[in-house]
Amino acid sequence: MQTVPLHDIEAARRRIADRIVATPTVSSTSLSERFGVPVHLKLEQRQITGSFKLRGASNAIASLSPQEKARGVVAASTGNHGRALAHAARLEGVRAVICMSKLVPANKVDEIRRLGAEIRIVGNSQDDAQVEVERLVADEGLAMVPPFDDPAIIAGQGTLGLEIAEAVPNVATVLVPLSGGGLAAGVAAAVKGLKPSAKVIGISMERGPAMKASLDAGRPVQVKELPTLADSLGGGVGLDNRLTFAMCRDLLDDVVLLSEDEIAAGIVHAYEQEREIVEGAGAVGIAALLAGKVKPSGPTVLILSGRNIDMGLHRSIVCGTVEAERAA
Ligand SMILES: *Cc1c(COP(=O)(O)O)cnc(C)c1O
Repeated sequence: MQTVPLHDIEAARRRIADRIVATPTVSSTSLSERFGVPVHLKLEQRQITGSFKLRGASNAIASLSPQEKARGVVAASTGNHGRALAHAARLEGVRAVICMSKLVPANKVDEIRRLGAEIRIVGNSQDDAQVEVERLVADEGLAMVPPFDDPAIIAGQGTLGLEIAEAVPNVATVLVPLSGGGLAAGVAAAVKGLKPSAKVIGISMERGPAMKASLDAGRPVQVKELPTLADSLGGGVGLDNRLTFAMCRDLLDDVVLLSEDEIAAGIVHAYEQEREIVEGAGAVGIAALLAGKVKPSGPTVLILSGRNIDMGLHRSIVCGTVEAERAA
């Protein structure tokens, strides 16, 4: 199997050390008392740009050749990967082009432009934006930086696993938000590389869990994309997936799916008990414990992966003025 070895993750850590924040790992009193085991929160939502995606993007850009850096990078993400790539490229003095469809809301476009990226608005779908990415790769020689299925991205996300294994040396279980699997593959490779007895469990939403469906089918499959509070976990794994599908198949001990109500309860707990603002994708570890879908049996680490949620939506969730099913 093609994988990402531990020493690549350690090299990524040295490469990005002065580009990212080594976020704190803190003990959760409320969850530890409730579940009778030490529960720790990896506060990665406090990462620069508001998510762990900066780790992979920084490593991918730092790994480019001088010629590639001179030409620039391109991606089609309007979410956390796009933000991270824009920021990381600007820091490195590299041109970044982010392609998006006409349907992307103006506030998201402005945010990514503010982070220093050039914006290309093309067509009416993510697929149209991806066609423009491929054109820029072919015509202008830009380097495409994929959101998860890439060795430099996986190694960058894996640096989070190194920090977890150091902060909690007796860790028994790590709960990882799971979409395309770059985070889960990198974290599992790092944590299990340092501590083979640790278990790593992926958490997705019931509404469109592409990796879970693919693992069940034994190969990458497409699922219908549905609105969800965990919007950063939407999207497919790619039918031509090279790395993350096999790594998740071989390294994850289990994958758990959550309802919208359960995800909302995770956001509320993070805010009221932990005093942390997290987006839906960042709340799924807490949510899985609260829902009883993961029974922790030893020191457990939950990755709060991001905080980029619309604050009006966040307010209505914590005030309980909107039903979770309708909120997304
Ligand atoms: C991208 C993202 C994930 C999922 O990461 P994958 O590598 O695609 O599995 C989880 N949480 C947040 C906040 C994200 O932005």
